[in-house]
Amino acid sequence: MKCELWFSEYQTKALKLSTKVKDVLYTGNSKYQEIQILDTEEYGRALILDNTYQTTERDEFIYHELISHPALFTHPNPKKVLVIGGGDGGTVREVVKHETVEKIDFVELDEKVVEVCKKYMPTLSCEIDNEKVNTIFTDGIRYVAETNEKYDVIIVDCPDPVGPAKGLFEREFYKNVYKCLNDDGIMVQQTESPLFNKDLIKNIHFYLKEAKFNIIRPLVVTIPTYPSGFWSFTVASKKYDPLKVDSEKIKEKLNNIKTKYYDEEVHKGVFLAVPKFLKE
Ligand code: SAM
Repeated sequence: MKCELWFSEYQTKALKLSTKVKDVLYTGNSKYQEIQILDTEEYGRALILDNTYQTTERDEFIYHELISHPALFTHPNPKKVLVIGGGDGGTVREVVKHETVEKIDFVELDEKVVEVCKKYMPTLSCEIDNEKVNTIFTDGIRYVAETNEKYDVIIVDCPDPVGPAKGLFEREFYKNVYKCLNDDGIMVQQTESPLFNKDLIKNIHFYLKEAKFNIIRPLVVTIPTYPSGFWSFTVASKKYDPLKVDSEKIKEKLNNIKTKYYDEEVHKGVFLAVPKFLKE
């Protein structure tokens, strides 16, 4: 008898995303969560935390390029960057590609996620040991509340707003992110599905406004393994508008940065393609 192994995430109470599993590469528990690395037939290796897809080898580039480059290319000279979460290393990998960046503080709650991803997801975690990266294992919510450091760009690469990540979507957190940014600083966060999480996105925009960010722009993109497959990020900026970046400048910088998804047209397109129901 031939047995098939499938992994299913309940993305809502009435919706499952299932993938056929070739091999279970790792399964274990950290102090914070259950961690699994599955080798899936369609999406390659997948990092699963508490039964939720975090990232997969096949579609990760869409997420990691879009959480990093629109903000990093909007800032004319990003030197110091803070990455909160992102334990798989995919975001750090994209930030390292920017020559102007001198230092990346990488604040991840769970040391075990980083350890496991270094072993099983090397195409994502490959730059975590880069000399520009300073890894700090602590809670990102506490970090921004307590630090006196200032950053040009802050990237919040967080899971869904549950458990220890809940506070990464709350009023106080955004105020502290604002405090940790230089006067021309920019923050970006993954902000869930426009279809399933409209109220959450609305609250985030309200909190960012309240925190005194001058420019707040959502961007939308398709990421197949996340709930509804339709995903949003939100960029909040003190000074520079992502929609006013000179495309020629992006094109020029991209001569030295290899991307698979992001280019100067995608930069404009993802902000302009925000659907009417989300704008409203
Ligand atoms: N791309 C993913 C998504 O949209 O689901 C996020 C991936 S990344 C693996 C999320 C990371 O955030 C996890 O490694 C988790 O440990 C970390 N994390 C959760 N809460 C955190 C917090 N309060 N401070 C810092 N890191 C946190």
